[in-house]
Amino acid sequence: MDRLKGKVAIITGAAQGIGACTARIFVQEGAKVVVADMNETDGRAVAAELGENAAFFKLNVTDYNAWKECVAFTKATFGKLNVLINNAGISYRKDIAGTSLEEWDRTIAVNQTGVFYGMQVAIEEMRTNGEKCSIANASSIEGLVAESAFFAYCASKGAVTLMTKAAALYCGENRLNIRVNSVHPGYIITPMAYDDARQNGQTIEEYSAEFIQKHPIGYLGKPEDIAYGYVYLSSDEADFVSGTQLAIDGCYTAQ
Ligand code: NAD
Repeated sequence: MDRLKGKVAIITGAAQGIGACTARIFVQEGAKVVVADMNETDGRAVAAELGENAAFFKLNVTDYNAWKECVAFTKATFGKLNVLINNAGISYRKDIAGTSLEEWDRTIAVNQTGVFYGMQVAIEEMRTNGEKCSIANASSIEGLVAESAFFAYCASKGAVTLMTKAAALYCGENRLNIRVNSVHPGYIITPMAYDDARQNGQTIEEYSAEFIQKHPIGYLGKPEDIAYGYVYLSSDEADFVSGTQLAIDGCYTAQ
């Protein structure tokens, strides 16, 4: 249970869903974790549950200065930064015709610009710390293939796929000892899925029954399925893995 022993991680969007699950499993695997989220109540509760191995920081990923403060807080609290999981994200079930300018701007700001800010600020810190470091970015199956119902989301997640590769190349070419990868979940039952079901006018049961059809494995994912992908990518087991895209999607993108 020591796959991340000695590592210090920032996990964004860790107040609930995949991020909260990842924070719990990271601590089980020996990491110290900064639970970074806009949602202070739930974020503080996750950090409190994890005790001395976790601390909460109120971070809006669209605020560049807050990112700087988050990294400074991480160093002050746990001494260094080895891992960034850029997990925070939002989605609107809106096609190109139905997407408002506000929904577009908000989606790009959180899902795409937030990932840029996080990577830039983290790389600035990690490049001088002398240890193996890694960044993993939450893309999606919709960063690999499109779905008309998620226009802005597809735009932002597709951008994350290639921002990841460009940043990984930069880190490699400059011998920074920082690996950068993206993770592409299929449909995972989290609060985001409940919200998406609501936007689709469905109960979670109706929603699950409909979208299982798109996952040839025959079931939807759970947060642990994604969290263990982040564990692997953040551990030294993945020493030679950089610039890649890990789909955890029950065959969704295999078709
Ligand atoms: P979720 O909605 O359950 O949780 C997202 C978390 O991000 C929340 O705690 C929220 O407070 C936080 N957040 C939102 N905006 C933020 C901001 N500006 N700054 C800081 N924190 C912010 O979502 P989830 O289902 O756990 O998804 C996590 C990630 O995985 C997202 O990037 C999502 O796009 C991606 N993903 C999810 C699924 C899925 O089916 N659930 C599928 C593919 C990809």
